[in-house]
Amino acid sequence: MKKAIASVPAVPTGSAAKRLAHVKEVAHRAASAGGHAPPRLIAISKTHDTGTILPFLEAGHRIFGENRVQEAAGKWPDLKTRFPEVELHLVGQLQSNKAKEAVELFDAIHSVDRPSLVKALARVFAKTTKRPLLFTQVNLGQEPQKGGIPPEELPAFLETAKNSGLDISGLMVIPPADKDPAPYFALLAKLAKRHELAKLSMGMSSDYDLAANLGSSHVRIGSALFGERK
Ligand SMILES: *Cc1c(COP(=O)(O)O)cnc(C)c1O
Repeated sequence: MKKAIASVPAVPTGSAAKRLAHVKEVAHRAASAGGHAPPRLIAISKTHDTGTILPFLEAGHRIFGENRVQEAAGKWPDLKTRFPEVELHLVGQLQSNKAKEAVELFDAIHSVDRPSLVKALARVFAKTTKRPLLFTQVNLGQEPQKGGIPPEELPAFLETAKNSGLDISGLMVIPPADKDPAPYFALLAKLAKRHELAKLSMGMSSDYDLAANLGSSHVRIGSALFGERK
């Protein structure tokens, strides 16, 4: 599989259950074709209100993601009291001064990418037993506007995290928007293998089939489920 299959309409139609089933089927097929286990599907609900999210919860979906701590803190505590098994992922940048709030709110953080954030998380972990799943975002496209550790700094960074008592479980990437994502996904998989990290957070609405084919463990799907963001 060389290019992402344009299998998902830009504006999804049908019920939440149908959209979920479709995305899952595409991801499962692509993963299986690549000899991989199917990825977990994180429904990225950023910018969407509770009314838009509810049908997906009612359809049985339980894994969601947000990119801002503040926005998630406004929406999810209430939803979580109604659906306590919800697993919430932070996929956006995390400021060190919000580390405590993020650890309380989220079950996974995909953007551990700086020594200062490692320090802040280690300080939080000293005072709580909550341990979200941690990913290190890698800026493989070397884009200055994007978060993520530069790839050449990854080995030292992972060592720093380990020495601070942080258990990094995987790597995350957002490939440059205008490039073929395949080489970025392949490189992320290679780096994860080299560092013996089992998890790969890669693949969004436009390319999750390709990511699943290349071994993604967590695909992050927004618009293919919820429609375009305003
Ligand atoms: C918004 C977002 C997504 C989802 O993007 P879509 O293209 O709508 O699927 C995935 N990952 C991150 C980090 C995001 O911020």
